[in-house]
Amino acid sequence: MDKKSGNIILIGMISGAILGAVCGYFFNESIIHIKFIGTLFLNALKMVVIPLVVASMIVGVTSLGDVSKLGKTSMKTIFFYLVTTSFSVIVGLILVNIIKPGEGIENFGAFVPDIVKSSERKTLIDVITGLVPSNIFNAATKGQILPLIVFSLLFGGVLTSIGEKGKQVIAFFEGINAAMMKIVVLIIWFSPIGVFALIGGIVAEQKGSLDQLISGLGWYSLTVVLGLLVHATITLPLILKAFGRKNPFQYFINMGQALATAFTTASSTATLPITMECAVKKNNIDSRASSFVLPLGATINMDGTALYEAVAALFIAQIYGIELTLGNQIVIFLTATLASIGAAGIPHAGTVMMVIVLGAVGLPLEGLGLIWAIDWFLDRCRTTVNVWGDSCGAAVISNTKEFNNNKQ
Ligand code: ASP
Repeated sequence: MDKKSGNIILIGMISGAILGAVCGYFFNESIIHIKFIGTLFLNALKMVVIPLVVASMIVGVTSLGDVSKLGKTSMKTIFFYLVTTSFSVIVGLILVNIIKPGEGIENFGAFVPDIVKSSERKTLIDVITGLVPSNIFNAATKGQILPLIVFSLLFGGVLTSIGEKGKQVIAFFEGINAAMMKIVVLIIWFSPIGVFALIGGIVAEQKGSLDQLISGLGWYSLTVVLGLLVHATITLPLILKAFGRKNPFQYFINMGQALATAFTTASSTATLPITMECAVKKNNIDSRASSFVLPLGATINMDGTALYEAVAALFIAQIYGIELTLGNQIVIFLTATLASIGAAGIPHAGTVMMVIVLGAVGLPLEGLGLIWAIDWFLDRCRTTVNVWGDSCGAAVISNTKEFNNNKQ
C-alpha cells in the first residue's frame, strides 16, 4: 500500500472511531444493528493470523540463514521484552502509590466476573508444557499462537538443513506469506467502516459504564491511562531512539493503522497482521526481524497489561484498606510481569490473569468486580500500548548487528 493511500485510510479509521463513538452514544439502538460489520472486520483479521504467523515465521527463520543468529536474536528479543515490561510496571507502581486512587472509596459492588470464574486456571507448568503442541492443528484451531511459533521455528530451522528438498518447501511458504500480506492490505481498505461499527457497538453497549468512568473509577482509570501514556510517550520513544535509531514521532504515525486497530479490537493477536504490514511496509523494518519479533511480541510482550495489573492490584488493596508492604509490592511487580507474559493477546485476558497477581499477595478475587465495569475501555488502552511496545521491539531488534551486517 502506498503512503498516500495509507494516510487516507488512517484518517478514515480515526474519523470512523470518532463517528462511531458519537453514533454509539446517541443512536445506540440503531448502531447495535450494524455491529455485525465490526464482527466481519474482526473475523477477517483473525482469519489471516494463523497462516500468516506460520508462513512468516518459517520464511523469517530460513532467511536468517544461520541457527546461531536465531539464538542471539531470540535472547535479545526476550531481554528487550523483559526490560520494557519491567519499566512499565515500575511506572504503574509509582503512580498508584502517589495518586492512591482507591483511598476513601467505598467498597462498591464486589463480585468475581464470569469470564474469570469460567476460565481455566493455568499454572506456570501448564504454560511451559503447552509450548510444545501435541497436535499443531489443534493449537491452530484454538488460536494458540505460542505453540505454533515453536513449531515454525523448528520446522524453518530444519528446512535450511535438508538441501534442495527444503528449498522447494521454503518457496511454497514464501508464496503463502506474500499472499497473506496481500489479503491484509485488502482488509485494511475495509478498516474505517470496521472501526466505526466496532467502536459504535461497544459505546452503545457500555453507555452506562461511562458514568462510572467519571465517578468511582475515575481516579483509577486516570492512573492506568497516565501510566500508559508515560510508558508510550516517554519510555518507549527514548528506547526506540537510542537503540532502534528511529524518529519516534514518525515511527508512531506510521504504526497508526495498527494502533487504531489495537484500540478498536482490544486484541494484540487480531491486530498482528496490520502491525506486520505497517512495520515492514511503512517503517521499513527488516522483514526477517519483524516476522520473528512481532508474532512473539503479540503473545508474550504486554507492557500495557503488566502496568494495568500492578495498578489494579494496588487499587483493590487500597479500597479494601489492606496495607501492602514493599515486599508485597515486589511480589506484585514480579507476578504482574509474569502474568502479562502468560496472558493471551485477546480481549480481557489481562483481567483473567489478575487471579495470579491477587492470589500471590492474598487480595480478594471479588475485587475484580470493582474494576470490571470499566475494563472494556482500559483493555483497549493497554492493548494499544502492548502493540506499540511490540513495534518498538521490532525496530530495536532489526537494528542489531545480526541484521545490520546482512541487510536484505
Ligand atoms: N487485550 C490485551 C491484548 O490483546 C490483553 C489484556 O487483556 O490485557 O493485548
